Amino acid sequence: MNKAPFLTREQAREITKNHPTPFYIYDERGIRENIRRLRKAFAWNEGFREYFAVKATPNPYLLRIFKEEGCFVDCSSLTELMLADTVGFHGDGIMFSSNDTPDEDYRLAAKLGATVNFDDLTHVLPYGELAPYGETVSCRFNPGGEFKMGNTIMNSPKDAKFGMPEEQLKEAFLLLKARGVRRFGIHAFLASNTTDERYYPKLASILFELAVRVSAETGVKIAFVNLSGGIGVPYRPEDTPADIEAIGNGVREAYERILVPAGMGDVAIYTELGRFMMAPYGALVSRVLHFKHTWKEYIGLDACAANLMRPAMYGAYHHITVLGKENELPAGVFDVTGGLCENNDKFAVDRPLPETEIGDFVYIHDTGAHGHSMGYNYNGKLRCAELLLCEDGSVRQIRRAETPADYFATLDLTPFQK
Ligand SMILES: *Cc1c(COP(=O)(O)O)cnc(C)c1O
Repeated sequence: MNKAPFLTREQAREITKNHPTPFYIYDERGIRENIRRLRKAFAWNEGFREYFAVKATPNPYLLRIFKEEGCFVDCSSLTELMLADTVGFHGDGIMFSSNDTPDEDYRLAAKLGATVNFDDLTHVLPYGELAPYGETVSCRFNPGGEFKMGNTIMNSPKDAKFGMPEEQLKEAFLLLKARGVRRFGIHAFLASNTTDERYYPKLASILFELAVRVSAETGVKIAFVNLSGGIGVPYRPEDTPADIEAIGNGVREAYERILVPAGMGDVAIYTELGRFMMAPYGALVSRVLHFKHTWKEYIGLDACAANLMRPAMYGAYHHITVLGKENELPAGVFDVTGGLCENNDKFAVDRPLPETEIGDFVYIHDTGAHGHSMGYNYNGKLRCAELLLCEDGSVRQIRRAETPADYFATLDLTPFQK
């Protein structure tokens, strides 16, 4: 089975005249079309908003595309807030879903007028010492126990560091209400990377029922329910993509079953999707540098885990296409590696691939989210450039590659210079 790249070998060749490999490239058309599909699937909800999770792909040029398409941003750190501000997001256009939050992050969130989504009850009163509460505040829920769909355990909220139990959430709402907050949001993130179309409707039912209880018991006005992230993408060629239309309909069914009869038919639905919005529309493009024939067959690339950490960190599968050889049969199985002094620096293990040559373009699929942004500098490796394949077919550099000067920028080398 195969997966289609959004780039041809000829395009890759053309690009490398100006931009050496490795590089990330994002597909503007794909990003925009997907945003429109999502917004259409939730158009039944008047207040619907997607707050793109900035951490997935924190690049201002990409955030601007989200802005143009009517989306908002979800931030969780000082620098993500700064980036959002730069692109022109402010006020309730920013959701601040942080945890274990430093004071200065909260101060900036307050200054920008962001909607704060408290991860914990113990943050609520100290925040009031730093800044005035906004009109609208959200709290993050953790139901504990296991999160199941059918008989399958999807996740164990009881072991997750995020969110607060129901009793604490109600206490937080009462504290906030007494301090002048008028509109409240409820948020939870209970499963990651799931293409199962039952996930959002299940999560929505849990949060809608909670919203009804909380509203009845505390008398607060629930303005929104934030289903956060977690919708997955088909990383493997045999995976089925998440059917966003069915997901939107499933959430609507829960909304009409639970919220509408409770007189809460004005609650807005928010999402904070990251992976679903970007992963399929980004690729890491690298070239074959070396072959090695020892106990196994190796293909060495000019990219390494410092460019894309997911395989090394989670054993994540990323499909690989050798550009121009899409239709060739496998010539064997190969480990595809980078040059870190770490044996887990492998983009693929025992992967069937066609015959490759040195210099061939290796296209690593579905790396548009949690790819470049998780990059690091181990072994002194430098992060690569990010490019945008624009709708008109032109290619624009939206982040340059790091140079050794960037790597040394935090050191004072003058005492060592001769
Ligand atoms: C990471 C994160 C998201 C996005 O998650 P995806 O799996 O990329 O959709 C959304 N909300 C919060 C609070 C997050 O931490």
